[in-house]
Amino acid sequence: MRITIVGAGVVGCSIALATRRLGMDVTVIDKLGAVGHGSTSASCAIIRRYYSEPGMIALANEGAHVWADWESFLGPIEDDKIVFPRPGMLFIPPQVDDDVRTIVGEMAKLNIKVSILDVAEVKQRFSYLNTASNFPPLPPDHEAFFESRGRDIEGVVYEEDAGYVVSPGLATQNLRDAGERDGVQFQLNREVCAIDKRDDDTFELTTTDGGRIESDVVVNAAGPHSSIVNRLAGVTLPLTTRPLRQEVHTLNNPLFDESSPLLIVGDMDSGVYWRPEGGGRDIIVGSTEPECDDLDWIDDPDDYNDGITESYWRRQTMRLMQRFPQVKQGPARGLSALYDVTVEDWYPIVDRTDLPGYYVCIGTSGSSFKTSPVLGQVLAKIIEACEKGQDVDHSPVQMKLAYTGYSVDTSFLSRNRGAIHTSGTVIG
Ligand SMILES: Cc1cc2nc3c(=O)[nH]c(=O)nc-3n(C[C@H](O)[C@H](O)[C@H](O)COP(=O)(O)OP(=O)(O)OC[C@H]3O[C@@H](n4cnc5c(N)ncnc54)[C@H](O)[C@@H]3O)c2cc1C
Repeated sequence: MRITIVGAGVVGCSIALATRRLGMDVTVIDKLGAVGHGSTSASCAIIRRYYSEPGMIALANEGAHVWADWESFLGPIEDDKIVFPRPGMLFIPPQVDDDVRTIVGEMAKLNIKVSILDVAEVKQRFSYLNTASNFPPLPPDHEAFFESRGRDIEGVVYEEDAGYVVSPGLATQNLRDAGERDGVQFQLNREVCAIDKRDDDTFELTTTDGGRIESDVVVNAAGPHSSIVNRLAGVTLPLTTRPLRQEVHTLNNPLFDESSPLLIVGDMDSGVYWRPEGGGRDIIVGSTEPECDDLDWIDDPDDYNDGITESYWRRQTMRLMQRFPQVKQGPARGLSALYDVTVEDWYPIVDRTDLPGYYVCIGTSGSSFKTSPVLGQVLAKIIEACEKGQDVDHSPVQMKLAYTGYSVDTSFLSRNRGAIHTSGTVIG
């Protein structure tokens, strides 16, 4: 079976390796000149398992095992390989309520090293963190931004071995190397501009350089261009994917000490997440989409402001400094990039579509780097099942996870799921 994957980001390259391992004849096309140079290159690549949906906790947990065993997962390749530091992660929810306890319970069921720490413990173990609550987050020019809310946070969720991948671009190149070794073909610098289904049930993809590719199966792994590629194929989904502009800023780490790495923090109480960068010398900080901030939806992913802006930089760095007062703002540094968001629930769509032979792995919503090798395997199984005639809409693929051994009903990734109950933010 010939399969053509549109998009050579971490998702497309993961699908390529997984489908090749199932014996398919795989081609990956990307309009850029190298793999992983789309939104993947900007990823913070944090690998954590705190998610609202138990199925996603299981996939993220499996992902963590894959990243930890990267060399064996890939098999022999010659390039340098990623590293996966695991300093641990604190989640600071606005309240430690039943929802939080349920998530922690689901994580514990999968033997993830997770616990809830009370404020006294946070003060004792992570004394550099200010434990005052900043909820609800405010814009920094709001008159009450610096005012005390008069209370502490209620506690934190501590995921002991959460980590991050250095670097996401290299991870994608590693996937390419492993894929090529096994026979995956890469066609770079080629932009798909038409996807036609022919009478004999095969596809013809046309590229802007006039090339034509025949295929039995097509996969949309085009990241923030996912809705454009769906339009090329004439496919509409019950869920919407849309590019969302994000900025990630870089500051000096005031506590840099190689022997004592800084934690990763997801601070929903203040509206930011951050992690160490540059071997720990720096900190990078992104947004958890607090309600007071307008979301920067983009109409054309090829035409947006890819620099950083004063207002975004100010609000993000100042929220970081609320929690971590020793940080100094310094000069504005950082990047901007696009998420491909599933607008209704911020969960990826990994599924067949109503056009037979056309599949999607899209809407990764700013948090699917960690799961990409697993989502690749999920989609490969879905393709295999559908092409053998299984009606996955009514009989969804039950995915047995190779490292952790758990089985996951993949219907929560379906295009027909309806919006599931999630945080509606990058936290998932
Ligand atoms: C700022 C930022 C921070 C993030 N942080 C994290 C994190 O901490 N943890 C985490 O798990 N996830 C994180 N993510 C999310 C994660 O990085 C993405 O979910 C993932 O990288 C998406 O990969 P992709 O392959 O789907 O998309 P991309 O990497 O964007 O790849 C899509 C590819 O498709 C190509 N393409 C598009 N249209 C066409 C066409 N017509 N023809 C040919 N090629 C085409 C593009 O050139 C591109 O290379 C973050 C994302 C961003 C942007």
